[in-house]
Amino acid sequence: MTSRRVPRAVAIITGDELLRGFIQDANSGFLADQLRDMGVELAEVRIVGDDFDSIGTAIADTTRGPLAADLIILSGGLGPTHDDRTSEAVALAVGRELVVDEAALELVGARVRAFGRMRTPEEVATFTPGNRKQASLPRGATWVDPLGTAPGYVLTSEELTFVVLPGPPPELRHAWKGVRATAELQAVLARTAPAHERLLRMWGVPESAASRTLDATGHDDSDARRVTICARDGEVEISVRGTDVASVDALVDGLTTEFGPAVFAVDDHRSVVEFIADELRARGWMLATCESCTGGQLGSALTEVAGSSAWYEGGLVTYSYASKTLLAGVPATLIASDGAVSESVARAMAEGVRATLGVDVGVGITGIAGPGGGTEAKPVGTVHLAVATPAGIVHRQIRVPGDRSTVRRRSSHVALHLLRESLRDA
Ligand code: ATP
Ligand code: MG
Repeated sequence: MTSRRVPRAVAIITGDELLRGFIQDANSGFLADQLRDMGVELAEVRIVGDDFDSIGTAIADTTRGPLAADLIILSGGLGPTHDDRTSEAVALAVGRELVVDEAALELVGARVRAFGRMRTPEEVATFTPGNRKQASLPRGATWVDPLGTAPGYVLTSEELTFVVLPGPPPELRHAWKGVRATAELQAVLARTAPAHERLLRMWGVPESAASRTLDATGHDDSDARRVTICARDGEVEISVRGTDVASVDALVDGLTTEFGPAVFAVDDHRSVVEFIADELRARGWMLATCESCTGGQLGSALTEVAGSSAWYEGGLVTYSYASKTLLAGVPATLIASDGAVSESVARAMAEGVRATLGVDVGVGITGIAGPGGGTEAKPVGTVHLAVATPAGIVHRQIRVPGDRSTVRRRSSHVALHLLRESLRDA
């Protein structure tokens, strides 16, 4: 029995404006999600300029050698103007000519008229060359219903399938739905092995420790078992996937045992806020926050989830000494003796907001976001966090390296995890 190879995809994203930093690529992330769900390996994302040679070279590079792609997805350059050259490059690559597709031409014309209802027939006529250009597709292409005026299409040439999509993200997403349903793409999907993917999420484990453990299990980079490790904001995510189901599961089980309580989610894609929300809802508890250096970021993160009013009472932003005392009831003498950035003040903020708003759970955050304000004893990035629940109060001190926005973002993220752990243990 021959094992099927997982199809490899390459995304070629075109646009001078992306290379010049005017806009950020929003299409490759979407395509990566889609392909992962379909069991296709996205092997490479290239961002290239709009010009014919850049697009042509990128296509040529990805069609050669042992790592040649099975699927090439192109984004952008399907517009009506002379500088939209993607179709020309694709036509050249597959050695086919561009031909006007009459049905596509009719549809593009109808869309142009619909988008410009007030236009005179003379004005509409000036669009004709552009319409013809957008309806000119490499011979044999199957086009799909566009959201705008640029029909995306799919084209198979020998073993290679091209998916060509308009650049504007809403148009690309719409066209992708159509493309997915085509026989050409289904034929590629028929070659995918069933994707078996497991996800392990850890908190409080340095990426280096996770990666040492992985080294001990041997490197995995085959279609049978592939491992990727990703650290962000103190979370470490290990994704294990491949066609060898037993070996994938064995590794996930081994890592889960190895890392014990640091593992907070296995195959669970809920956000940290959703974990918190579910714990609070299960207990019928209400939460309130008291923030200093994060200036409300924690409250903002908590309210990102719809329905948060069921478990989030509200929050205080107590930036000055006076507001900490006046609003959260932190004794002025405590601030004077221990300093505003201290364990005792963080605890008092958590207890204070809990009492003031009459809720079950209170969170306090106080720290030095910088760039000024640090001392030798309390350098920039020193943050104290506390969570008060009916089961007691927990405190953590962290030192966040980085600039002001990193300190603020990381602090609210740590607060979320501290909250999640406190609720789990309460
Ligand atoms: P159009 O008919 O609008 O010209 P097109 O298929 O030729 O469509 P582009 O010219 O490449 O697409 O892009 C049009 C606009 O869509 C860009 O100016 C940009 O605003 C947006 N866009 C294109 N590609 C991307 C991308 N990868 N990420 C985010 N936005 C994009
Ligand atoms: Mg364009």
